[in-house]
Amino acid sequence: MIIDGHNHILTAGLYPGYERFIKEMTMGFFQGKGDLPIDRDPIEADWTGLEYLWEPIDPDVLLRDHPGVDKCTILAVAPSDYTRYEIRGTVDVAGVTGVEGPKTIDKGCDYIAALAKKYPDKFIGMAAVNPKYRGVKAAVAELERAVTKLGLTGLKLYPMYDHYAVNDRDLAYPIFAKAQELDIPVMIHLSTTPVTDTVLMYGWPVLLDDVARAFPNLRLLVAHTGFPWVDECLILGARHRNVWMDVSFFNSTMTRRQTYEFLQRARQVGCPWNRICWATDYPGFEFPDTLLPKFALVNDVAAEDEPTIPEADMARMLGGNYARFIGMDWSQQETVEQMRSNEESWRATIKEKKVR
Ligand SMILES: [Zn+2]
Repeated sequence: MIIDGHNHILTAGLYPGYERFIKEMTMGFFQGKGDLPIDRDPIEADWTGLEYLWEPIDPDVLLRDHPGVDKCTILAVAPSDYTRYEIRGTVDVAGVTGVEGPKTIDKGCDYIAALAKKYPDKFIGMAAVNPKYRGVKAAVAELERAVTKLGLTGLKLYPMYDHYAVNDRDLAYPIFAKAQELDIPVMIHLSTTPVTDTVLMYGWPVLLDDVARAFPNLRLLVAHTGFPWVDECLILGARHRNVWMDVSFFNSTMTRRQTYEFLQRARQVGCPWNRICWATDYPGFEFPDTLLPKFALVNDVAAEDEPTIPEADMARMLGGNYARFIGMDWSQQETVEQMRSNEESWRATIKEKKVR
């Protein structure tokens, strides 16, 4: 079973703030690709043709965009209303979840839970809460409701977006204590973001060291491998057996050779491959159809005298490690067979799409 442990769905806010948010997030990327002007700031008209970026992400389209992937984690976005992106949080603008009543960020967990129930074989749903939105007590209560009443699998936190530090004893620790009590896994965005009304310092993965020590029985996952602080993230993984990481987004910044070198680097600094998880950050900057073969066939770029990654380790990175993180059954044998049967088509994709 291959699992993509990091996907976004529906919209992550209400317009017009959400559109501004997505424009800030993607502008540099599209300028780099030549789709937006670089000699001046893009104006409204320059974005023509790119409106899909802030249109709601439909669950069926998400699944269609994941060929060869068996399960996808779908993440709620934590609610906030105090940044320059106005009303932020997961909202079902298109009305595809069946959740009734006014469209509001207060129902972010309800929307994700409704989709997880609608596609039980496909989606793994993660709650999101924010102690700066209606206070830490409300956030803890919402987490408890999301897990015990809505049946969500785990929690995602976005400290840099919501302007708090992950090692804040007043704001964050009560949430981790509740997660530990509920025995659920916690994913945390610890990385950068191009969006400017966020706090870069709070994206520093080293801040999680305090949390990993204070809550040794809590399963924690650093999203995006802490990019650009990748070494710091690997050191966290080397220090703490309760810290996992996903390569989502980070993998879209890398060539196959760089991916190979990253995996060798992990081993060299003592971070075992058994807590590194493949994932995409869909809809992100590169799609699953190339991100999957790029990772799964990383051994193709190893020189003859270089070590390769054993099949079993690769299978675990493609699904087993994440399954263990969320406490789900997973078969190594079945996944290895799946990899073998996909190899040819993956190689064809790499060739056809000129994946570097
Ligand atoms: Zn993400």
